[in-house]
Amino acid sequence: NRPIVAVVGRPNVGKSTLFNKLAGKRISIVEDTPGVTRDRIFTEVEWLDRYFTLIDTGGIEPDNGDIILSKMRNQAMLAMDMAHVIMFVVDGKAGLTAADKEVAQILRKTSKPVILVVNKIDNINQFDNIYDFYELGLGTPFAISSANGMGLGDLLDEVIAFF
Ligand code: GDP
Ligand code: MG
Repeated sequence: NRPIVAVVGRPNVGKSTLFNKLAGKRISIVEDTPGVTRDRIFTEVEWLDRYFTLIDTGGIEPDNGDIILSKMRNQAMLAMDMAHVIMFVVDGKAGLTAADKEVAQILRKTSKPVILVVNKIDNINQFDNIYDFYELGLGTPFAISSANGMGLGDLLDEVIAFF
């Protein structure tokens, strides 16, 4: 009965890195069959005495583009069904992609809060990379670095504000 926060986004944007950082410990991936969606991974997160369940919906093996896209759609649907808050993670180094736009199109239809998270902003010199993502129509992008932890406190503040 804790609030559920789902992490969605295309492969390689850093969903699992973010998940592990917030979990505070490494959690191994449940299944590793190419082309098969791995089991979703759950962890409990505590921030400022608030608790929530975080789900890493990732685990798509790089395969052909259509399969990735259909799995991303399914994950977005799952997240919209079960989560209270959705973190949509994009890659601030790679920039905006067609797949990001596809997922955004689905997520814009939910009435649930969607937080647009631009990962891989490892230092302030890369901050300008976030502006392209306004185009997704999901509000103000949150710049974070899952690698070094930059921006994670502000992100968690935003998450718990929705409970
Ligand atoms: P996922 O497929 O979305 O779960 O992505 P992963 O968490 O597996 O990360 C994909 C790659 O991006 C890995 O090589 C990570 O080390 C790298 N990565 C993740 N977060 C960051 C970050 O904040 N900064 C940088 N520079 N690389 C990152
Ligand atoms: Mg992953």
